[in-house]
Amino acid sequence: MKFIRPEDYKNEILKGNKVALAKAITVIESTLPAHQKMASEILSAILPATGNSVRIGITGVPGAGKSTFIEALGLYLVEQKYKVAVLAIDPSSSVTHGSILADKTRMEDLSASPNAFIRPSPSSSHLGGVAQKTRETMFLCEASGYDVIIIETVGVGQSEITAASMVDFFLLLMLPNAGDELQGIKKGIVELADAIVVNKADKHNMQNALLAQKIYENALHILNPLSQTWSPPVLTTSAIEKRGFSEVWETILIHNKKFKESGELQQKRQKQSIAWMWNLLDDKFTNHIFAIPEVKEAVQNMSSDIDKNKISAEEASDHIYNTYIKSVVHRRTKKEDE
Ligand code: GDP
Repeated sequence: MKFIRPEDYKNEILKGNKVALAKAITVIESTLPAHQKMASEILSAILPATGNSVRIGITGVPGAGKSTFIEALGLYLVEQKYKVAVLAIDPSSSVTHGSILADKTRMEDLSASPNAFIRPSPSSSHLGGVAQKTRETMFLCEASGYDVIIIETVGVGQSEITAASMVDFFLLLMLPNAGDELQGIKKGIVELADAIVVNKADKHNMQNALLAQKIYENALHILNPLSQTWSPPVLTTSAIEKRGFSEVWETILIHNKKFKESGELQQKRQKQSIAWMWNLLDDKFTNHIFAIPEVKEAVQNMSSDIDKNKISAEEASDHIYNTYIKSVVHRRTKKEDE
């Protein structure tokens, strides 16, 4: 099957064709202008078929057991006859040229299932770029009939916040080291969590896990809940022993039902889309402005002047802004003269 027109992609994606899905994702991740045009047309074509999945974000410190947990949850869901897609946001892949997430052997059992689709993190020069591509991939997967989309993220920079900005349910995975309290997880991230899961609650480690559960419950108690209808619970799992997953899924379904009924799900997704529109607009303006040679030069000069304490940030930003305005006026007058 050849994929030449956006319609070809759309028809095959809607049929659940994994090859078409993977090819469309490659087009979306490409930086070639022809591909970008095609990507935007594919996305417009499949848009009406999106929005029907449960979108879950998962984060946790390295070693918390994210990939083992996601594989166990994915296998549980596949057994329940759901189609599951696993995506990732890993901005470290662009910085280190080797993805933290891709370094490990990833979810072999789950990837063997015909009802699972696993895609490593796209690489891009900045988090916004990685995340935007993951978000678009999420839409393609929804159009392709995946009921559950799981987005994994490593705790690099702002990546958890970005992941939380595109999902319905954000889950924070923790270790049962009760003494370690919040294990270096940024407070802001705990505030974003719709549930905390204490993983590695193996049979022999149950006491520690239950103690950790209590500590996290108390920590969550102090924080104001994000929603009137939802107080984030603390659950326990053993990803190795494959225990606790029906409770995790049950919790996500209850959240989904409550949020649908209260209208919060729709509101949350709309808010997320508007925030994304602003992000993308910011990027477009920034790219446009910095493509103008005079502005580029002004930015370099002002950065160096700030470095030498010659100018304040306010004055520098005024100068750059005025250079931009002058260049726009100059171009317009030149065009009118021609
Ligand atoms: P990630 O870095 O957060 O993705 O963590 P991994 O999934 O790679 O797991 C890190 C280590 O913890 C691996 O050796 C896993 O086998 C182990 N692990 C993950 N889940 C469990 C669990 O529930 N119990 C135990 N005992 N080990 C686990």
